[in-house]
Amino acid sequence: MIKIDGLTKIFGEGAEAFTALDDVSLTIQSNEFFTLLGPSGCGKTTLLRMIAGFLDPTRGQLMLDGKDLLRHPPHQRPVNTVFQSYALFPHMTVSENIAFGLQMLKRPKAEIAATVSEMLELVQMTAMADRKTAQISGGQQQRVALARALAPRPKVLLLDEPLSALDFKLRKEMQLELKRLQHETGITFVFVTHDQEEALTMSDRIAVMNAGTIRQIGGPRDIYDHPAERFVADFIGDTNFLKAQMVSSTESGALVRLASGEEILAKAPEGGAPSAGQAVTLAVRPEHARLCERRDALLIGTLDNVVYFGTDTHYHVTMEGGGTFILRRQNQPGQTQTLAINDTVGVCFAPDTAQILKD
Ligand code: ATP
Repeated sequence: MIKIDGLTKIFGEGAEAFTALDDVSLTIQSNEFFTLLGPSGCGKTTLLRMIAGFLDPTRGQLMLDGKDLLRHPPHQRPVNTVFQSYALFPHMTVSENIAFGLQMLKRPKAEIAATVSEMLELVQMTAMADRKTAQISGGQQQRVALARALAPRPKVLLLDEPLSALDFKLRKEMQLELKRLQHETGITFVFVTHDQEEALTMSDRIAVMNAGTIRQIGGPRDIYDHPAERFVADFIGDTNFLKAQMVSSTESGALVRLASGEEILAKAPEGGAPSAGQAVTLAVRPEHARLCERRDALLIGTLDNVVYFGTDTHYHVTMEGGGTFILRRQNQPGQTQTLAINDTVGVCFAPDTAQILKD
């Protein structure tokens, strides 16, 4: 288990000082696939480098299984890193690359040979064991980099955007592969990405970061269905934001009034709904909304754009009173398009799909 407490990193001094990580506290369970997710520059790599030992914190604590990690230099930590660039040795074979770390640790020859062969099998590279790494594809290099990092059996594997150099299809494949490797080895993975879809597909839990702070921690479903604040709702998936006013809050849910005067039940934020009369923001996912008859509609607007995506179609509606609302509908075989741009349309969404956000 990794326990991070009040971890802060300030680069530079005086007027130049920049806080890259601001009082971050979190716990990562052993055997967990844990993802740090956030936009560029939010401090993900800084946090990862401190766990690895490549960077010292300005203050805070970092414990692994009850031991103070900060007292140990990188090579004494039971932690290994897979970098975005793979950092393989091009003149060495696949096997030699995997064996390298074990040789540095002066493990017995027989043990190294057995581990290399096990790792080759684990990442399905046995057939390429004797190829030079300069002569294999990007996806294969990625597998070797993983095998090399897993070979010394670290307690924790840190992965810094390891899939970003791969093309879309290979990336999808490697996402599942990484999940399988984590499951099979039982090693704790701490994975860094700015790609929300990647985080949702792979992680047991996700920490959403922004500007050096943790905004929310939870399972993928939890974060997608119950974003705690506007930043999280906006960063993960597509979201429509609507202004509303609290009417009342009961055990069964919170009642809010939309600008149109319609009242709907919405999901209260963790910690309870704001009091009656307060202005709130509602987050509505495009897949929870549908076009409907104007007389049933919660919102009325003008259809601006219809975008076909193969599996689904997106409808962009400019609402009466301003703002755009996006709806997503799954395409069905034989379905025809009866709507035209500039049509006046109604928008509906089911009760309890809108999330009340803390402003
Ligand atoms: P990306 O997804 O682009 O890699 P990130 O979330 O990993 O971003 P970090 O690399 O952790 O971000 O950087 C966090 C902030 O700290 C950035 O604003 C960066 O410019 C700053 N920073 C990182 N290293 C240093 C340094 N050595 N000196 C000064 N500022 C730094």
